[in-house]
Amino acid sequence: MKALSINHINKYFYEPEKFQVLKDVSFEVDKGEFVAVVGKSGSGKSTLLYLLSTMDTDYEGQIIINDTLVTGLNQNKLSAFRNEHIGFVFQFHYLLPEFSVLDNVMLPALKLKKRSKEEIKHKALDLLDLLGIKGHEHKKASKISGGQQQRVAIARALINDPAIIMGDEPTGNLDSKNTKIVFEIFRELAKEKGQTIIAVTHDDEFAANCDRVIEMADGKIII
Ligand code: ADP
Ligand code: MG
Repeated sequence: MKALSINHINKYFYEPEKFQVLKDVSFEVDKGEFVAVVGKSGSGKSTLLYLLSTMDTDYEGQIIINDTLVTGLNQNKLSAFRNEHIGFVFQFHYLLPEFSVLDNVMLPALKLKKRSKEEIKHKALDLLDLLGIKGHEHKKASKISGGQQQRVAIARALINDPAIIMGDEPTGNLDSKNTKIVFEIFRELAKEKGQTIIAVTHDDEFAANCDRVIEMADGKIII
């Protein structure tokens, strides 16, 4: 079963001048597959991930996620779809700095309203424990270290059990011990729960251990 398929994606930036950043990109990812996206800086990895995550809708081509054609959906539908089906770990976290660690993790689930607040809190605490953040849940997000913030962002991405987890260098800020922990969590989610993982990474060892590597160069997929 396919988790995602993208067909003939072209994407342009218009500032400072017209520039084609993605060039006829097509690929498919199976459900439960753990895929690394690699490539030199400037090759288009982040741009591609923003399209896949439905946050950027300005492109040509088609994106199908979980059998839903997301291309052309209006912003309300897209935002609801994203919250339910996609967990995204940004390159620079984007936690709400004035909110507690626990509130940051709970927020997407409170928005989804599929579980009680108690259940959500329980799940959030379990995830924080899994990611080694236990004991920090009541601190403001701005008061923990960068590596801890990144792990909180990962917990937040997992709270709704999304079908697809996307990360732009999700382990970029982590030491090798925590990188391994996060890798193993992703591996387990893919294997046991059939969740699909797409992670941009510069970490060769991380990429080598994924099911598949997609390499980008100059806006195209080269492998
Ligand atoms: P990567 O993540 O692989 O480093 P990006 O997707 O961030 O690459 O960027 C790909 C290319 O698009 C780069 O040449 C970058 O300078 C350019 N780019 C990225 N974002 C914008 C933007 N908002 N406006 C114009 N050019 C951009
Ligand atoms: Mg990038």
